[in-house]
Amino acid sequence: MQHLMTGFETVFHTPPEAACFAPGRVNLIGEHTDYNGGHVLPCAIHLGIRCAAARRQDRVLRFFSRSYPETGVISVSLDALHTLNCWADYPVGVIRSFEAFGYRLPGGADLYFTSDLPDGAGLSSSAALETATGVMLRYLFSLPLTQQELAVLGQFAENRFIGVNCGIMDQFASAMGKSGHALLLDAHTLSYQYAPLGDAALVIVNSGVRHSLAASAYNDRRRECESARSLMKVPTLCSLTEEDFDSLSGRITDGSCLRRARHTVTENSRTLAAVQALTRGDKQAFGRLMNASHASLRDDFEVSCQELDFLAETAQGLAGVYGSRMTGGGFGGCTVSLMERGAEQAFIPAIQEAYRQRFHVTPAVYSVTACDGAKMLSPEHTDGAFSVT
Ligand code: ADP
Ligand code: MG
Repeated sequence: MQHLMTGFETVFHTPPEAACFAPGRVNLIGEHTDYNGGHVLPCAIHLGIRCAAARRQDRVLRFFSRSYPETGVISVSLDALHTLNCWADYPVGVIRSFEAFGYRLPGGADLYFTSDLPDGAGLSSSAALETATGVMLRYLFSLPLTQQELAVLGQFAENRFIGVNCGIMDQFASAMGKSGHALLLDAHTLSYQYAPLGDAALVIVNSGVRHSLAASAYNDRRRECESARSLMKVPTLCSLTEEDFDSLSGRITDGSCLRRARHTVTENSRTLAAVQALTRGDKQAFGRLMNASHASLRDDFEVSCQELDFLAETAQGLAGVYGSRMTGGGFGGCTVSLMERGAEQAFIPAIQEAYRQRFHVTPAVYSVTACDGAKMLSPEHTDGAFSVT
């Protein structure tokens, strides 16, 4: 339990009015499909970002993150919102998005953040930060916004004010997750449904690597997908079945573009098959689809790296594991493995030891549970600790 109230008071010398929690997410399958109008299957996880906050009488916004104590308290006027070139651009970006959509804040606020999510590891700490900000401001200023709208405004903030051309998955999962369930999202229409995870265990292994080519490669992949889409003259790559794709793909002459498009189309069908497998409780079939997803990301989309390949392939061979794959944008970050409940006890030391022998570093491992999307917290104890309501 994190003592948000105490932390807030130490920094801002006044008690907070409210606290909230926004989860990170892990994507189980459906990678690089969201910006191609396809399906994704993430779940919100119990690791995330907590925020305590209070309104102010003036028009000043102040931010503090316990993860970035070196930046101290960051202040900005509500009347002169601008890019700060630091982490506070995420909460400021959310406020700028609110304003862009006509939701003006009547006054300032102090916001204090804590996190138990590794940042930059592909578990969407950025989306959690955006969603936490959105949920908190909605509460403080009684703004008439739904959870879905908060997700869209978070994505808008990241696209427009951070300059990251991400799809909607991360913010949607952080806002709309459901305890014990994965979330199938149609990124084109934003329609969604939940699928029960049953008693399977989810384990995330952090490779600890963050390759510098990630951002430029991401933009390259988006360009290649767009080029393939326009050559085939279809509204989105994921509007194609695999059969449609086979009949149209001759129009794509460039080998890289062809492979990127093939990954996208096959990944979308795997995601739809995976949700069916989950719904009928067939974890083995689900796991095979995860493994096939990893192979496609490695060979066709080419966004894996030797660390992720090693982790996924090692996990796939361990007892009780249904399936394992890289998760997130790629070039580092984490793998996700689905396994029989109880198998994680032997899995965790085995994968850590194998990785340590190969790469001389012990990877961080998170055994996670699927949880609800962002919500306000209520003070449970008089000592000021907050817990999820
Ligand atoms: P991911 O979303 O996969 O974790 P990103 O690169 O998209 O990685 O987002 C990471 C960025 O989000 C960090 O560099 C930082 O600016 C911001 N961020 C994440 N967690 C926090 C936090 N606890 N406090 C402040 N900023 C954070
Ligand atoms: Mg992010």
